[in-house]
Amino acid sequence: MKYPRLEIHLDILRRNAEKLYRACRADGVEPVGITKVCCGEPAVAQTLIDAGYRTLGDSRLENIERYRSLSCETMLIRLPMISEAERVAALADYSLNSEITVVEALSAAAVKMNRTHKVIAMLESGDLREGCADEESLHALCRRVHELPGLELAGVGMNFICYGGAQPSTEALTRLIREKNRIEHELGVVIPIVSGGSSANERLMTAGGLPTEVNQLRTGALIHVGIGLMDEKIPGYRDDAYRLKAEIIECNVKPTMPWGKLGTDAFGHINQWVDRGSIRRCIAAVGRADVELECLEAMDPGISILGGSSDHLLLDLSGTEKEYKTGDIVEFKVGYVGVLRACTSPYVEKVCI
Ligand SMILES: *Cc1c(COP(=O)(O)O)cnc(C)c1O
Repeated sequence: MKYPRLEIHLDILRRNAEKLYRACRADGVEPVGITKVCCGEPAVAQTLIDAGYRTLGDSRLENIERYRSLSCETMLIRLPMISEAERVAALADYSLNSEITVVEALSAAAVKMNRTHKVIAMLESGDLREGCADEESLHALCRRVHELPGLELAGVGMNFICYGGAQPSTEALTRLIREKNRIEHELGVVIPIVSGGSSANERLMTAGGLPTEVNQLRTGALIHVGIGLMDEKIPGYRDDAYRLKAEIIECNVKPTMPWGKLGTDAFGHINQWVDRGSIRRCIAAVGRADVELECLEAMDPGISILGGSSDHLLLDLSGTEKEYKTGDIVEFKVGYVGVLRACTSPYVEKVCI
């Protein structure tokens, strides 16, 4: 077996995905399954489809391409680059948009391919990432989508809590719905989708604060690692679907304090040390090139993480009864950024089980 390996437990993902799907449906919301954290792993995509998800979304076309042949609709959730417009029209049924020049490029690409591409027009929520800055520019974008060939104005949307920290709110979404109604009236069309946010909206939804017109959420983190708004663990969802296994390459008893003339660590940080005497510790062959070390939690609760560098993870074994030795495997559950890093690292073996 090759290490480090990331084991993806599809049964756990399936349970999380089904639970969220049921919760959304009970509130009149159709969730889109977001796959960017696992780079569009096809077995994960199939698991979401099996759990009921009809549309899967990702920020990268390379990831969508991996599961394009599965029976689902696809959504590009990062604003398209003009330079990728043709691939967007070929690979994605939907995309989120805020720029007139981009939808013009998408229109030309869709016409060329004899396809219809469905546009969700984004309005700024206060988070200050993607979205038309104000109501007028949203109207102008929707008008342009409506008049361009090869495009369908499928929805309006908002995104929260990705940059500025603006939380999903009834007020912001009510503003989006008001504009949708005005645009429908002005253009004489029906805009079927109101895409109201992400996993971060789950708390608002369960609290009854999601306006009834919101009928889509784009959900990833809650399915994959069981977290919602501000990375809070949501009760009932599991956080251990992604697990990293690494091999121990040194086992020793060493002091907790370094000695000699001390400088910075490998990443330029000056660390604070607490003297706890000599402890049982080991090195696992995994590091920042493979995973975000701050996102690891050992499955053995007696193991704690001391720190690490690009290729080494230092573990404190003083809290565990188990006798670890060189060559043994240690297992960790992995949080969101860790999963992303592991899935994008060429050093990590990925295995779906
Ligand atoms: C990543 C992303 C999502 C999904 O967010 P989660 O926190 O993983 O649920 C939704 N919408 C957009 C635009 C995104 O970039």
